[in-house]
Amino acid sequence: MAAIRLDGKACAADLEERLKQRISKCGVTPHLAVVIVGDDPASHVYVRNKVRSCERLGIKSTHIEFPSEASEEEVREAIISLNNDSSLHGILIQSPLPNHMDEESLTDLIDPSKDVDGFHPANLGRIVQGRLDGMIPCTPAGVMEMLRWADVEMSGKKAVVIGRSFNVGMPQALLLAAKGADATVTIVHSRTKDAKAECLSADIVIAAVGRPEMVMPDWVKPGAVVVDVGINRIDDETRERGWRLAGDVHPDVANIASLLSPVPGGVGPMTVAMLMANTVTSAESQHS
Ligand code: NAP
Repeated sequence: MAAIRLDGKACAADLEERLKQRISKCGVTPHLAVVIVGDDPASHVYVRNKVRSCERLGIKSTHIEFPSEASEEEVREAIISLNNDSSLHGILIQSPLPNHMDEESLTDLIDPSKDVDGFHPANLGRIVQGRLDGMIPCTPAGVMEMLRWADVEMSGKKAVVIGRSFNVGMPQALLLAAKGADATVTIVHSRTKDAKAECLSADIVIAAVGRPEMVMPDWVKPGAVVVDVGINRIDDETRERGWRLAGDVHPDVANIASLLSPVPGGVGPMTVAMLMANTVTSAESQHS
């Protein structure tokens, strides 16, 4: 039996409706600043999607663009001035930054209450403490929202997260294990001895590895729930543009899993929706 599609677009649309209600009661127009450095085409597409989402919801967005040869000091000064701007509720630095910039130290500079990406150590640390009312990184938060929206039972289930990055895999594992979700979590990474065996034992698999179609059908227990975070561009001569997007999960996993999120249209729209949610939360808390 084919898996049911875990439809991130539909889940994001539901979330947006709830956000519109919250914005109408917020007493202030939420305001997001997006800092982008350089001319990486994919980054500009991501920023455009975020700005469009702001427009749909009535969130004000300000775009601060630097050329790729800008100095780290210039970006640093811009962040400090955004921190001090009381009309702003969210600050996001679009990744990746040029190699001559220290992304970590620039992220550390953002006021944690405006850190809508949730990457500041103060916000990541709160997750370890089980304080889930703050700025949670958008992708793992979006996965949790999608699992709850689809009524996936997590309590006592075995979850495997493939990937341990600070922005996706690690916070994802913490969120699945947190009180309220209550899954028993295994983290698979590049040194894991037998990733396939770990996945085969899981009721829930979250693939956030960045390796196209790595999770094959024979890696998945029949009936498992599979969430594909991966976004990989692979060559495809049958397409006019010469490439296509692939997830970290092979499409034939749909014949084994009970629920599978598609790429595109799964975790991607949820990531943007959670960014909007963090911006609204920040506006609410700064104006309550
Ligand atoms: P990342 O920082 O490169 O982390 C990848 C993780 O995968 C690392 O922890 C790495 O392990 C692990 N890994 C690599 N090869 C492996 C292997 N053969 N077996 C097991 N684990 C392996 O990537 P990321 O930022 O977490 O992103 C992961 C994927 O999600 C990418 O495709 C990215 O484009 C996508 N993504 C999508 C969204 C969205 O909105 N849908 C958002 C963010 C990211 P080590 O730690 O041992 O190196």
